[in-house]
Amino acid sequence: LNRRLTEFGSTIFAEMSALAVRTGALNLGQGFPDTDGPESVREAAVRALRDGRGNQYPPGPGVPELRLAVTEHQRRFRGLDLDPDTEVLVTAGATEAIAASMLALLEPGDEVIAFEPFYDSYAASIAMAGATRVPLTLHAPDFRPDLDALRDAVTPRTRLLLLNSPHNPTGMVLTRAEATALAELAVAHDLLVVTDEVYEHLVFEGEHVPLASLPGMRDRTVSISSSGKTFSYTGWKVGWVTGCPELVAAVRTAKQYLTFVSAGPFQYAIAEALRLPDAYFHDFREGLRAKRDLLADGLAEAGLAVHRPQGTYFVTADISPLGEKDGVAFCLALPERCGVVAVPTAVFYDDPSAGRSLIRFAFCKRDEVLREAVRRLKGLT
Ligand code: PMP
Ligand code: GLN
Repeated sequence: LNRRLTEFGSTIFAEMSALAVRTGALNLGQGFPDTDGPESVREAAVRALRDGRGNQYPPGPGVPELRLAVTEHQRRFRGLDLDPDTEVLVTAGATEAIAASMLALLEPGDEVIAFEPFYDSYAASIAMAGATRVPLTLHAPDFRPDLDALRDAVTPRTRLLLLNSPHNPTGMVLTRAEATALAELAVAHDLLVVTDEVYEHLVFEGEHVPLASLPGMRDRTVSISSSGKTFSYTGWKVGWVTGCPELVAAVRTAKQYLTFVSAGPFQYAIAEALRLPDAYFHDFREGLRAKRDLLADGLAEAGLAVHRPQGTYFVTADISPLGEKDGVAFCLALPERCGVVAVPTAVFYDDPSAGRSLIRFAFCKRDEVLREAVRRLKGLT
């Protein structure tokens, strides 16, 4: 393994899911739903397979039906007008979109400012590009970005802001004022912005502000989203990048040599999914809001200090009130102690002390699973 990757090992999600399987514990660690998405979308995939649509290499940028559907979805929910031929690129999930963006846009030695705690693939993707990550730490209890600290973090080497709202793992959702301030800073310092908006449909408080919609951002922003989150088919790995033709072409150059293309039949199915009526997106969000409240209330009753998220399907809690200090040790012991898996937030920080007593639970699980997890956690005290 080269020096750039030695610190990465295996992802915390794979480790914690393996622990859940090994111990038979309830898995509130890795963020995947325990029920599949809409039946009609699954049927669309079956139809595509059966009709031989996408069974051979689809076009590099993605099948035209999906690229068109992405633009229609962005017009409907974001008010953005995109050209499906030049401003959309289909990727193997948001994960590839992030990696391809870093590989395409960074020079070795460039600095990338990203919120920490950060989604784990950000650090690895920046490292693979030979660039340096510069964390902008989000602090409990509110996890708001400190814009003065951000201004101080910008240097002549800063090339790119890697943003994520709704934010995994904290559930922070940027306000319009914060997003605008970030955009102004990007314009002032002539920075590129890569914005991971995979939880765009999971905002419970406030609004989702697409960074690309703000003044001066259209030509400097690469926006990333994924069907895995919105349609609950995380195994299909269909994501997309949108932005101005020049940036999308750059990311496509890198993507060509990572996976070449992404799985064909699923692209047709996701094209149909993106056209689901507004009621689908509304019900998806409201269903998860109820689960958020179920788990957040339960964790509070179990004695944890809960930071109720404004978005995503994760809730962060502090274990200090239980007399515990170290989230890593706590999460490793939790399956044996009470049959529940959670993820220690410390692993998402460069400076683990900032998140030492924080842990993350995923609530995209059936209500009975969430209730049983709470029952077990109450037995801890
Ligand atoms: N970004 C964030 C913030 C995520 O939480 C995830 C998935 N959990 C991804 C990217 C990756 O998405 P995909 O599964 O589409 O690769
Ligand atoms: N994004 C999911 C999470 O945050 C996991 C995805 C993965 O395992 N790479 O839990």
